Amino acid sequence: MLILSRVEGVEGIKNSASKLRQRCCLGAAIFLLLTALLGCAERQLVRPTPQMDVDQQFWVRVLLFENIKACTLKTPCCLTVLDGRTQTPLTHFDQPNLPIDAAASAGMITIADRAYEADSVIILPDYPHVFNINESDYRGKLQLIINPDGDSLTAVNLVPIEAYLAGVVGAEMPSYWEPAALEAQAIAARTYCLYIKRHFGTKRRWDLQQTTANQLYLGVSAESAQVWKAIEHTYGQVLICSQPDGTEDIFPTYYSSTCGGHTENSKHVFGDSFEPLTGVPCPYCSDVAKPTQFFWPMQQFDKAYVSAELLRRYPKLKRLGEIKDITAARQSDYEGFSRLTMVKLLGSKGKSDLLRAEDFRLTIDPTGRKLKSTICQIANLGDEWAFLSGRGWGHGVGMCQCGAQAMARRGATARQILSYYYPGSRLLTIDY
Ligand SMILES: [Zn+2]
Repeated sequence: MLILSRVEGVEGIKNSASKLRQRCCLGAAIFLLLTALLGCAERQLVRPTPQMDVDQQFWVRVLLFENIKACTLKTPCCLTVLDGRTQTPLTHFDQPNLPIDAAASAGMITIADRAYEADSVIILPDYPHVFNINESDYRGKLQLIINPDGDSLTAVNLVPIEAYLAGVVGAEMPSYWEPAALEAQAIAARTYCLYIKRHFGTKRRWDLQQTTANQLYLGVSAESAQVWKAIEHTYGQVLICSQPDGTEDIFPTYYSSTCGGHTENSKHVFGDSFEPLTGVPCPYCSDVAKPTQFFWPMQQFDKAYVSAELLRRYPKLKRLGEIKDITAARQSDYEGFSRLTMVKLLGSKGKSDLLRAEDFRLTIDPTGRKLKSTICQIANLGDEWAFLSGRGWGHGVGMCQCGAQAMARRGATARQILSYYYPGSRLLTIDY
């Protein structure tokens, strides 16, 4: 529609009487035509979203916002508002690229001044099925759910799995990394996503968060030609392993940035036991991780802050009184270093409690950017707790991403990387 109006403008300019004006107008016409053509080319650069007709079990619901009053939507094409429950079309917007305001108020969702009584609405953008919410582009559809307070919204991106993965792989790994590393990442992310969806999604209105709480997802901005290539080369591939009941099925293919020299047994970090997640030596990640990432400097945290954060997240710790000492209760010992897996908190009332070391780490540093891993020693420095001899980044379970890149540089294929970090697993291709 935008292109059509520009062409009409060109026609009007051509009818001008003055020669000079005609020349100017001709220039303007060429400019407008070029702009229109470039506009077309630009639009064509946005790949169409694959799998828009795939079975519901292969759609992923990603939580974008949990408690917002309003948001601004845009699509490069037209969009339809559907009833979230019945999928009945309610309104069609046919003006591309115009910002549309959506808000929640008194139990109703308002979109461009029209109020909907539905508990949720789905925004369905036309081909290539891309939309923008608050300045970020995503693929698939957007579900806006009214929260129980009636005045705020939860925004969930409904996206077919392969399109979702393009927004994960490019966020989790630099797209200039080796193709085999990107492919291994795609397979691990695909398997992890389906596992989390199946085991946790049924209890809530979304499957995954878009942060490292699950796996990073940045939508269209994370995509690149290399990332799409990795997705296409591994289309539908997941990892399976034997389950306690003797069958073979997908498992939670955890992965983390830099294991520090040995990956960790999932049982000690997440509490689940699968044969491929018991831990392997990793002589690779030190080749790729920056020295400040592989070895991180001492971090200090104020004791009052640590106590407050622990009590906020774990109110049961109140019975301990003031936290007087934090020691290693369990650790995995490897050549030259140990990873804390359980810490003991000793309180002023003489009582103590145990906490998984990874939960402890992310409670006092939710970003995980200062206290990068639990491969460290804890020291009592008066008003502060100090964490020394730090090494590695992330929980250390499953594939080591820097290790995967180092293996790929040495010529390993995605399959070899995955067999190394998830021993006992095998590949299965889903027939979508
Ligand atoms: Zn490693």
